[in-house]
Amino acid sequence: MTDATGTVYLIGAGPGDPGLLTIRAKECIESADVVVYDYLASPFLLEYARQEAEIIYVGKKGGDHTLTQDKINLLLVDKAKQGLSVARLKGGDPFVFGRGGEEAQLLLAHGVQYEVIPGVTSAISAPAYAGIPVTHRDHTSFVSFITGHENPDKRDSSMQWDIFAKSNATLVFLMGVKNLANIVKNLVANGKPADTPVALVRWGTTSQQQTVTGTLETIVEVVNKAGLKSPAIIVVGHVVSLRKELAWFDKKPLFGRRIVITRARAQASGLVSQLTKLGAQCLEIPTIKIIPAEDTAPLKKAIDNLNHYDWLVLTSVNGVKFFFDTLFDMGKDVRALGHLKFACIGPVTKERLADYGIISDILPETYRAESVIDAFSHMDMQGKKVLLPRAKVARTILPEELIKMGASVDEVTAYETILCDDGKETLISLLTDQKIDAVTFTSSSTVSNFMSLLTEDAAKLLKGVTIASIGPITSDTARALGIEPDLEADPFTIPGLVNELLSYYSDKNS
Ligand code: SAH
Repeated sequence: MTDATGTVYLIGAGPGDPGLLTIRAKECIESADVVVYDYLASPFLLEYARQEAEIIYVGKKGGDHTLTQDKINLLLVDKAKQGLSVARLKGGDPFVFGRGGEEAQLLLAHGVQYEVIPGVTSAISAPAYAGIPVTHRDHTSFVSFITGHENPDKRDSSMQWDIFAKSNATLVFLMGVKNLANIVKNLVANGKPADTPVALVRWGTTSQQQTVTGTLETIVEVVNKAGLKSPAIIVVGHVVSLRKELAWFDKKPLFGRRIVITRARAQASGLVSQLTKLGAQCLEIPTIKIIPAEDTAPLKKAIDNLNHYDWLVLTSVNGVKFFFDTLFDMGKDVRALGHLKFACIGPVTKERLADYGIISDILPETYRAESVIDAFSHMDMQGKKVLLPRAKVARTILPEELIKMGASVDEVTAYETILCDDGKETLISLLTDQKIDAVTFTSSSTVSNFMSLLTEDAAKLLKGVTIASIGPITSDTARALGIEPDLEADPFTIPGLVNELLSYYSDKNS
């Protein structure tokens, strides 16, 4: 082992819920030069990687681009020998049917340093999220983790069916869905009672989680009927009966709802995390991209002349970001702003401003220009000079009203909102297959960009889909484009939108 050799971290990425990643795993992803992951590891975890990190996808189940285990091993060795720090993310725990042991042996043979970071295995967590404890004093005193992958008819099989069948252990099979009929047959043939409870939990711990239950006698038919496929955990044993009492995750109010989030990706996370916590499956289809203004000269000129202004009005988090990016790029800092008064158009913009150490003088409760205008109307704006950095295309009511109050307003373009069609194909195919329950709109531009992605089939594609709007202005834009919102947030904020979705679906569920 030379000093120049990097380290490979064999990381248990957990079963799917991004919150089940360990702190140690997160640290390793954050500092890695290369992140190698496969289809079982949640793509959300990649967000922890550094911008410059190389991200390598080594396998989609049944896909064309799967790297063989040998090639993955060589890739890890090769990257480490270049002196790079490699995070190898594996679903669940790396040493529970994860081939982590083989990868470690190979790294050792090549003199590559490695560390193992255990993870939350699906063998325990998928049942747990289905309300099934793998041990319980009233039911069983031990639990076995078994590969369901091995063909049980294999002659030299190491599978000890007689022991599995006779024990009262909870049997947890991984990789067993395709072999379910054989597993059941062998257990029953070896004396396991046909009325033993069985559960299958697919995509456990994620918002796509699907659970079916039956007995050894019925489960094959139940699974066929449900069309349940891999990846799933099979649990055999009396603990399965506890699910009736202990189910919790699939009882969440938005569980199983598939909701499209139409925001610029950088802003979507608040809405996504709140809806996901309530059990929804969020599909982020970014319809807008936010880029710096093409011509930055007007903003730079305004920043050079900050002494000339009395007020700085910020209408969005993007306005805050691009204003400060430009300020810092120009070699200035917040001391250049000490004499200014600040107004923000909404609570999130206010929070973003606070990140820079500045408390807004006007604190509106909603996201609308009207409430800022109302706050200004109680102040003497006569002769005041206002700088308004904003989007290229923006509503004009705020500057108009400020001018009526006697202020002079300089509007400068800080950023542009442009159409993003990266998600167009995914979106159309999901809508065509009726896989979407709701679409959320958080601004007028998300509506118009979304509608331009759908082209002329919009009415047909959106039939039966719930349209959720953040407020009256967004709703008006939707109506003008031919779609009627089913619900509108009040207050006009992200939490308001989340609450409205909650009560909409609780009415539907009841
Ligand atoms: N190392 C992994 C297991 C890898 S073997 C772990 O510790 O979880 C792959 C098998 O794991 C799949 O066939 C399936 O049986 C199971 N599996 C992985 N993630 C799962 C999930 N989220 N829900 C249900 N089963 C899962």
